[in-house]
Amino acid sequence: MPIEFDFIIAGAGSAGCVLADKLSASGEYSVALVETGSSDKKFWIQTPIGYGITYTDPKVNWCFTAAPDSALKNRSLYWPRGKVLGGSSSINALVYHRGQMQDYDDWALATNTSWNYKNAEKIYESFEERLEPNSVVQSNHNIPEPVNKLSVFNASADYHNLKHDFQDAFSELNLTSSSQGFFAGEGLGPYWLTTRNGKRCSSASAFLHPAASRPNLYILTETSATKINIRNKRAVGIEVTGKNKKRTLKARREVIVAAGAVNSPQLLQLSGIGGSHHLNTLGIKPIVEHPHVGQHLQDHLGINYFFKSKKPTLNNTLGSWPGRLRSGIQYIARRRGPLSLSVNQVGGLVRADPQTAHVDTQLYCNPVSYQPADTNARKLTQPDSYPGFIMGFNPCRPTSEGAITIRSNNPNDAPEIRTNYLSTGHDLNAIVGMAKLIGKIQDTQAIQNILSEAPDMDLTNLGEDQIIEDFRSRASTVYHPCGTCRMGTSIKNSVVNPELKVHGVNGLRVIDASVFPNITSANTNAPTIMVAHQGARFILSDHGS
Ligand SMILES: Cc1cc2nc3c(=O)[nH]c(=O)nc-3n(C[C@H](O)[C@H](O)[C@H](O)COP(=O)(O)OP(=O)(O)OC[C@H]3O[C@@H](n4cnc5c(N)ncnc54)[C@H](O)[C@@H]3O)c2cc1C
Repeated sequence: MPIEFDFIIAGAGSAGCVLADKLSASGEYSVALVETGSSDKKFWIQTPIGYGITYTDPKVNWCFTAAPDSALKNRSLYWPRGKVLGGSSSINALVYHRGQMQDYDDWALATNTSWNYKNAEKIYESFEERLEPNSVVQSNHNIPEPVNKLSVFNASADYHNLKHDFQDAFSELNLTSSSQGFFAGEGLGPYWLTTRNGKRCSSASAFLHPAASRPNLYILTETSATKINIRNKRAVGIEVTGKNKKRTLKARREVIVAAGAVNSPQLLQLSGIGGSHHLNTLGIKPIVEHPHVGQHLQDHLGINYFFKSKKPTLNNTLGSWPGRLRSGIQYIARRRGPLSLSVNQVGGLVRADPQTAHVDTQLYCNPVSYQPADTNARKLTQPDSYPGFIMGFNPCRPTSEGAITIRSNNPNDAPEIRTNYLSTGHDLNAIVGMAKLIGKIQDTQAIQNILSEAPDMDLTNLGEDQIIEDFRSRASTVYHPCGTCRMGTSIKNSVVNPELKVHGVNGLRVIDASVFPNITSANTNAPTIMVAHQGARFILSDHGS
């Protein structure tokens, strides 16, 4: 194993796997990909329903806990993040959504560049491999692996029958909807998923594994980047620890930080790139005064409402041994059925406020229900004993900002995650209208027909204060942190420039969800993969490829 490479990438998540593939593709450059976690060749990672198990598994998950948030009655939220090849794309809920046009047009505004939707769309088209409902059956479960493509599966045909009731409810309310669903922009329907042949299609499966045998690509698992070495304001390599060994890796061309929205700012701060006052107090010598590192943390905050159903739901299937057995056989024989799917089956982007210019709400309608646990244990594998379903929402474009800050100079100490949710009037005001929208869906004939009893939380008759009080008591992260090394025009407002280079340090970029100038309206895996493709183009073009 050499110790000197052209490029070193810290973090093999949604972004890091794309970068490893693109930078090593020509064979011209040697590339080291350093990942704290281990291999993703694990049954519960590859099997979509395994989400309920990896959600709390410290072997593949950082299992962070955020600081108590006064807006949430001082609750400390559980923040899972992937710690394995594929990163969070290996443990996420598989929903694929690009967000809305406005998200990227706002990136272009913030950076004064062409990071707009028109350009983003071209990149999306370059890596999405869209699979239609019958693709699994037609191919006899064996679609050949496409090279460098992310499989995005239209799972509408496979979803639970309750999808028809949700769809009828949307139609009654004249909400934009389609039985084929949407993976961009406004519209409700069945969610598209990152699966292929009934297995998870993470960034590792789509981009890294097909590239893994290249002789110029070195994948170092169970190895953590602990510091970026910087000489004369140039990144020259990194310090790593792994398998009880400390090593220095040298970078001839660039170091690329792709450790995700929590760990990327942590690694920069540990390396002396952050607010100098804070770093000095921890005994870290500041290299460049960088006040925005770790700031501008954005996330989606959502809530679920629970309903009891006359019709059987996934609770009947996943909650009984005969149902589990049937699903297991269905999965082994045909790679179909509930084990091949996400529990987030229906939803999308919608306007709770019909007057608003852009969609403001993401909805989730899941044909399963489980009681939220006080602890980190999500009982997806133990749904309620009666047939039930969930409808929930999160505001699309919150404006509250939190921060990620290291607590010590020890790389093993988790950084502080200050969420600061609901700290703007905009975010607080958004909640009532969105909860009322769920109330309207609940009151449609389609949903009334399937309710076995009135819901505990009668959203139609709940007062505004009660809705907000309940939201503060129960809302939780939707796992989309971003913005903590955001891109912008100068060191005065951001961490990286529009080509994702860290301001004031040569040979160093950050490329992952932490560079988003603003959160996108829907799930963040797709936009992160898009950013990584664009980032790789910047790098290759700078180095003459
Ligand atoms: C439980 C959950 C559910 C989600 N559901 C969805 C969904 O349904 N749809 C969707 O679009 N998005 C979803 N997301 C969000 C989405 O997966 C993330 O936004 C996306 O994966 C972020 O990509 P990233 O490259 O920025 O970071 P990550 O994919 O998290 O990758 C960072 C990688 O860096 C590694 N790393 C960290 N520090 C170091 C270090 N010091 N040295 C070496 N390696 C390091 C980590 O172990 C990790 O592998 C979900 C996320 C979670 C956690």
